[in-house]
Amino acid sequence: MDMQEKLGILSGAARYDASCASSGCGREAPLRGTGNTSQGGICHSWSDDGRCISLLKILLSNDCRYDCAYCVNRSSNPVPRASFTAREIVDLTMEFYRRNYIEGLFLSSAVMKGPDQTMEEMVRVAEILRNEELFGGYIHLKVIPGSSPELVRRAGLAADRVSVNIELPSSESLHRLAPQKRKESILEPMKLIGGEIGTSLVERRSSRKAPRFAPAGQSTQMIIGASPETDLQILRLSQGLYKRMNLKRVYYSAFVPVNEDNRLPVLASPPLLREHRLYQADWLLRFYGFTAEEILSEQMPDLDESFDPKTAWALRHPEFFPVEVNRADYGTLLRVPGIGVTSAKRIVAARRFSLLTHEGMKKIGVVMKRAKYFITCSGRPFEKPDREPLQLRQRLLLGDGSDPVPAPRQLVLFS
Ligand code: SF4
Repeated sequence: MDMQEKLGILSGAARYDASCASSGCGREAPLRGTGNTSQGGICHSWSDDGRCISLLKILLSNDCRYDCAYCVNRSSNPVPRASFTAREIVDLTMEFYRRNYIEGLFLSSAVMKGPDQTMEEMVRVAEILRNEELFGGYIHLKVIPGSSPELVRRAGLAADRVSVNIELPSSESLHRLAPQKRKESILEPMKLIGGEIGTSLVERRSSRKAPRFAPAGQSTQMIIGASPETDLQILRLSQGLYKRMNLKRVYYSAFVPVNEDNRLPVLASPPLLREHRLYQADWLLRFYGFTAEEILSEQMPDLDESFDPKTAWALRHPEFFPVEVNRADYGTLLRVPGIGVTSAKRIVAARRFSLLTHEGMKKIGVVMKRAKYFITCSGRPFEKPDREPLQLRQRLLLGDGSDPVPAPRQLVLFS
């Protein structure tokens, strides 16, 4: 098999990993035009400072000995198999980097002979790139569940980001759909990585020469909709991971049915709107001071698909509003629909010099379409307040006529 064929198979097989997004479509350059789009291979991710970076996204191998129900690469699927050597991936990365196609590498793999043998090869790729090729670009390595602590440590020392996929939101679902994976084999490396990141940060405060361990942090990925857990269970799990494992990010990946298997649900389409709402709720956990139990409850365990989770929370808590923008503290401002982290900071800074008006709020970047129902400026509401939650719900859903809000709908991956 030549490199082009291998690249086709192993970049295609990597596209279900949600930690960064593949181009997702193939297109030939028009006659006398420039540039083709390839189905997989180059994907985009966001660095800490918000830059969009291009990564070569591939698997070391798709020749898996495990048989996870939801995975295209499972051992029982009759798909073409291929594996790269460590040297081949190093050469590809360096070639693409020199031609300015990519700024880094995202490397994952199926489980070949075993977790350690696979992880050893992946770590070798990163170590050759760093130590022999002196590659300074971004490297994201997936950690194979069950790999030895020593290999996990080496991965963290060579890569910028490492991630262990949690796969499913509960150990029962993991046992049912990925019977060869154990909860401990996922959580133990995660815990180790979290501890090493913390230690490295402390050591580097006293000496800049102390080694950096996964400086871009660790992340994980969870499949949504392949198993029966509620959004509350999912958010509680994410909340625990952020608190206990030093996690930078949880990626939610809407279940895409690729196999016929009676352990899997039959879905008309991947639950992309649910995935989107989970990302919004996750944002509330990380940056807005909400807890999973505030966003959802045992009585209402799933996110409202009609509203973003902050608006849904505000509709359930009329006693919290209206918020007076000239007095409210930063944490309170963050709870107002339409006010984000940036606009809350701007409000706090701007009101030191003068009282804020509704007009001023627009200029600051507040989304008044939503915020106008929940705030006052110097005691004045934007318009006559709708105290009836039902009425307010209707107005938010349909708009007030001047600015109609499109009804939420299930998103589609490709038209
Ligand atoms: S371990 Fe499971 S999810 Fe990973 S490649 Fe193999 S079958 Fe797929």
